[in-house]
This record gives sequence, structure tokens and C-alpha cells, in this order.
Amino acid sequence: MSYFGLNSVEEEERRNRAFQMLSAMREALTISKRTRQAIPYKRALQLVNDFDPELFKDFQNLLTKTNESEIVKYYKQKAEALSLESGHTISPEQLIQKDLDTEIRIRNAGENTNLIQRKVFELESALEYFQPEDISENYILNHDFSLTHKHEFFNKKIYDSAKVKDYELTGNRVLRLRLLHPDKAERIIGSDLVYEQFDLKSQKVRFIHIQYKTWNTKTLYFSQGNMIDQIEKLDKNICKSGYCQNEKGSKFSSNYRFPYCSAFLRPTSFLTKPDASLISSGIHLPVCMVNKIRETDKKVDVKNSKGKSVGHRIFEELFIDKHIGSRWLTFNELEQFYKEKGITSETGRIRVHAQEVIDTSKTKENNGS
Ligand SMILES: [Zn+2]
Repeated sequence: MSYFGLNSVEEEERRNRAFQMLSAMREALTISKRTRQAIPYKRALQLVNDFDPELFKDFQNLLTKTNESEIVKYYKQKAEALSLESGHTISPEQLIQKDLDTEIRIRNAGENTNLIQRKVFELESALEYFQPEDISENYILNHDFSLTHKHEFFNKKIYDSAKVKDYELTGNRVLRLRLLHPDKAERIIGSDLVYEQFDLKSQKVRFIHIQYKTWNTKTLYFSQGNMIDQIEKLDKNICKSGYCQNEKGSKFSSNYRFPYCSAFLRPTSFLTKPDASLISSGIHLPVCMVNKIRETDKKVDVKNSKGKSVGHRIFEELFIDKHIGSRWLTFNELEQFYKEKGITSETGRIRVHAQEVIDTSKTKENNGS
């Protein structure tokens, strides 16, 4: 049982953590797919389904599925009882459909039928509850694919327990996804996305780390929970460790780009109930800037982050175009970074760890042979 299905944890908390994780999946997918528009949440959910059907069910319940109505509950009970009685499986859908057919028939035959019509509506929406989401579109990336032969780096295990899957991308690229969702609920302190881009030709890698935080009424107080703790950790591990600098130790590049920063705070909307039209508007705030705000303010909000943050619509694009994120590092430097900062041992975090691997060296070899 994953954390997201635990009844011992408040539903609202699980819902908002699920939304954070889904946002991270969506962000990773948007960057890797090179689309100019953000991938819809529904598509990100499909990827979750491909990755882990069990997790998908929990997400669906928490994020998109409205609560079971009385009538749905009734048919579930009835189906269960009838299955026991008859000795073979009878589904609630079958029973609803049967009753629906009857109601429609008598509605069509009658004259005064407004109450029958109401029943028809009720049964139709109950039936809808059981209808599977449309996952037919040929969207899911090809996962019959493995990265292990590309470079020895990818044979190494990073986490003790994480699901791993490799997906084929366009342009001789591969996306390796790892999902970590600890099952010890009390240890969970937040969610984040680590996105790394490997270039096999130059044997270099660059990264960006995103920390998700649910904000209610679009305000994040520094006094809230472990907010300061997390910000300081990111600041210490990334900004102050020199990953927000170029090779020469400067925050600024001689080329045209944003100042170096590779850790961002990403506020996500607060969800009180499942919502099929999941939307998270908002900002990506560099951790360096969060600390600047902290010097004079007790909170982060839309107003005081203006001019210091990147809007969500251009964030992915800026990373793809190398305007934000870390400088290029060697694979050894990255491993050193993992080790020194204990990046791979943070068990209290729900994490999406995405590695995009660009292998243009392969094309050349193929052309030559
Ligand atoms: Zn920074």
C-alpha cells in the first residue's frame, strides 16, 4: 500500500501531496517532450498509470474522482451480494445498465415522466462513475526500452528502493524516470523533482531541482511547518555549494542567460476536493531569491515574488534552452554531488527523479558503419 492510499493520513494531506507529485511528473514530461505548451495533467496521469497502476488508482481517487454517490454505493453492495448468492461475478455496471434500460423504456412509454427522467439521470451518472478514463490516445511513451547499455553510469543503482522505467524520446533521447514515495507517512516532509540532462557526446550533465509547496490562498509563510528548514537545505546543498555558478565561479554568464540558479521553489494550488480540471497557476521562484525575500518579509506571495520569479509557462522552455539550471558538470562531479549532499538518501521525500539522456554520438557511429 502506498502512502497515497493510507487511510491513517488525512485525505486532504494525501491529496495535496499527490498533486505535488503529479505536478512534478508533468513538469518532467513537459521538459522531456520538448513541447512548447505544458502537458495537460490528464496526460501526466496516464504516465503515472503506465508507471505504476496501483499509484494511478490512488491518484485518481484523490485528484479526479468525485466521491461515490449513495446510488453508486448501493449498486456496489448489491453486486457484491448477488455475486455471492449466484457464485459468479456480477458487476455494479451490469446492474445499473439493466435498471437504466428499464427506466428508459417506461419513460418513453409514459406521459407524466419527470420523476422517471430524474431516475434516468441518476443512473446515467452512476454508470459514468465506473467508466474508465480514456487512455486510448497514442500518447504513452515507448517503455520497451532500456538505457543500461548507453553508458556505465546508468547501470549504477541510485536509490535503494525506487521504481525505475526508461522511455524512448524523440531525437535520440531517453527519459529515465524514478518515483520515490516512502510508505512511512510520518516521515514525509515534502515533494520534489530532480531533473538531469545528460549529453553523452560531451559527457556532461546539468540539473535543476524543484521543491513543491502547497500554498493556500497563494501565500507561503516562512513559519509554516518545515519551510525554512527545506529552503536552507536547498540553499546550502545547491546555491551555496557553487552549483548556481558557472565554471569561473560567477553567477553570471558571458553569454546571454539568466543568473545561474538550479534550485527553485514551486508553489502549487491547494486542493480541497477532487477536481477534474486540475490547474496550477503560479510561479517558479529561485531559492536564492526566496532568501532575498526572507530578509525583509515573513512570507512569499504573488506580490513580493514579482520580478524575482519565472512564470510557469516559460519555465520549462528556459531550462531546455539552458537559460536556467546548473552549469554543465562531469558525471563524476554529479556522483560526488550525490554523495556529499546525501541526495539519494533522503527518505522523507516524495521524489520524481528524471534523467534525460541525449545520445547524438550514436547517430554518427551509425552513419559511419
Ligand atoms: Zn541558487
